[in-house]
Amino acid sequence: MSPPRASHIHPSVVYLVGAGPGDPELLTLKALRLIRAAEVVVYDYLVAPEILAEIPPGCERVFVGKQAGHVCRPQAEINALLVALARQGKKVVRLKGGDPFVFGRGGEEAEALAAVGIPVQVVPGITAALGAAAAAGIPLTHRAYTSALVFLTGHECPGKPGQAVRWRDYARLNATLCIYMGLHRLAAITRELQEGGLSPDTPAAIIQAATMEGRREVLATLGDLTERAGAAGIASPAIVIVGEVAAHRPRALSYLAAESERDVLRAAVPGGR
Ligand code: SAH
Repeated sequence: MSPPRASHIHPSVVYLVGAGPGDPELLTLKALRLIRAAEVVVYDYLVAPEILAEIPPGCERVFVGKQAGHVCRPQAEINALLVALARQGKKVVRLKGGDPFVFGRGGEEAEALAAVGIPVQVVPGITAALGAAAAAGIPLTHRAYTSALVFLTGHECPGKPGQAVRWRDYARLNATLCIYMGLHRLAAITRELQEGGLSPDTPAAIIQAATMEGRREVLATLGDLTERAGAAGIASPAIVIVGEVAAHRPRALSYLAAESERDVLRAAVPGGR
């Protein structure tokens, strides 16, 4: 990556930084500058190795993410760690996949830091839904089909007060639905959306590892998405996009960076894939 202008980073401030959806080129210049100036980087598992390679030698790295099948560190422990590092006067970058404030628990970390008087600065990142839509060439809004866009989680905090996501209500919004962490509950989610009134013919897509090496996608309908995603062996991280727009993806929009030249050519030729 080319060097952004060298600049300062304040010690004792915690920077909650979004690393984007995967492709290292989707990192912001601001994020890159902060990573290069950090004294300690606390990061999650969805951060690309090329981005981690930008952490300066001598900078402390702390991995706090969860890997498939393993438990992650309790959030309270991560919060306490950030507080302790900031209190040591270090330049702390808390690096998270996508955007820190979109299903990234950035809000909880910011609250914990603010509660003890530690200033926080948030640097947005490209969230997975945007990366996945670009990768699949699906416009998330389109004047002809939808004017609303909803980000939902398929995996809810078990201790959360009040009701879980009311999928049936979302079926009535006439919106594009982007469902994070929905893979393991795909059957129940798609069923409830249909029970809420969405037609089984509603276009739906699931995109695995969007903008990363190994990207895969299944374009289906609400009625057969679970079966087709299962048959294709779609695995985490994956995001689901439901709505009319999923059927309207001009080929030219497909995200081609990081794909081989042959794939680029194939995608550019209609019917070539
Ligand atoms: N803060 C992150 C979301 C963290 S939740 C963001 O803004 O993107 C983790 C979930 O995000 C995954 O379970 C998956 O649903 C989605 N996700 C993250 N990266 C992804 C990728 N490259 N491709 C598809 N889905 C992704």
